[in-house]
Amino acid sequence: MLKGKTAVVTGASRGIGAAIAKELAGDGADVAVIYNGSAEKAAAVKNEIAGLGVKSGIYKCNVADGNECMDTVKQIIDDFGRIDILVNNAGIVKDNLIARMSEEDFDAVIDTNLKGCFNMIKACSRNFIRAKSGKIINISSVSALLGTAGQANYAASKAGIIALTKATAREFASKNICCNAIAPGFVTTDMTANLDETRYLDLIPLKRAGKPEDIAKAVAFLASDAASYITGEVIRVDGGLAI
Ligand code: NAP
Repeated sequence: MLKGKTAVVTGASRGIGAAIAKELAGDGADVAVIYNGSAEKAAAVKNEIAGLGVKSGIYKCNVADGNECMDTVKQIIDDFGRIDILVNNAGIVKDNLIARMSEEDFDAVIDTNLKGCFNMIKACSRNFIRAKSGKIINISSVSALLGTAGQANYAASKAGIIALTKATAREFASKNICCNAIAPGFVTTDMTANLDETRYLDLIPLKRAGKPEDIAKAVAFLASDAASYITGEVIRVDGGLAI
């Protein structure tokens, strides 16, 4: 389904990003795995992907740094020859109540989650415009829709991603480039490991936590030709949490 295409996935060393990288590779895409601190885990994802018979490479890049994003995208195009799909998945949390939240923690979350998406979209934009095609998929969160207490920085960053997604969709539509967002609910990963899952189950109509693969399948759909008439959309994958 994605044979001959190259996908770039940020934050692909662990959790949802690793599942996305494997899902896209399973659909036939070559995959560039971007990580920041988890080099060994990124290498393990790369090896697993290589076992599926597609090309893969790992790239260390802090998405909050625009120059690093530019250099990394250039390197990926040198190595793979093209980029067809960009998945902006890298993200962090630094939760606290507003009264106790430091300016540094506010900035760090905005810089990684929101500016990171902008940096990567900008870095890939020339390639997509030249090719007159491209799929950009940004990972937002139901926190953007709910405004979760204790996550002012995170919710704002994820709401910003939704606005960025819509602006990108409008700006690039004439070049046949689609941009959509996915808003996951509660997904079992390192990010949610410290949270009490049972507290959330009462709030989730489907009565289970999400798996990284649940998100990956929605990304694979948006990356496919089957979604070629969808742009500027936000799809909740949350078991009904934010209905
Ligand atoms: P995770 O397990 O904590 O993994 C986060 C990933 O982001 C890691 O691969 C990490 O790379 C990467 N990353 C962090 N900072 C980075 C930076 N500055 N530059 C590049 N990569 C960076 O998180 P997750 O649960 O899989 O979450 C993935 C995405 O889904 C995030 O955007 C998150 O906000 C969103 N989301 C998650 C949930 C959930 O319930 N888990 C719900 C809604 C939305 P290294 O380890 O290599 O540093």
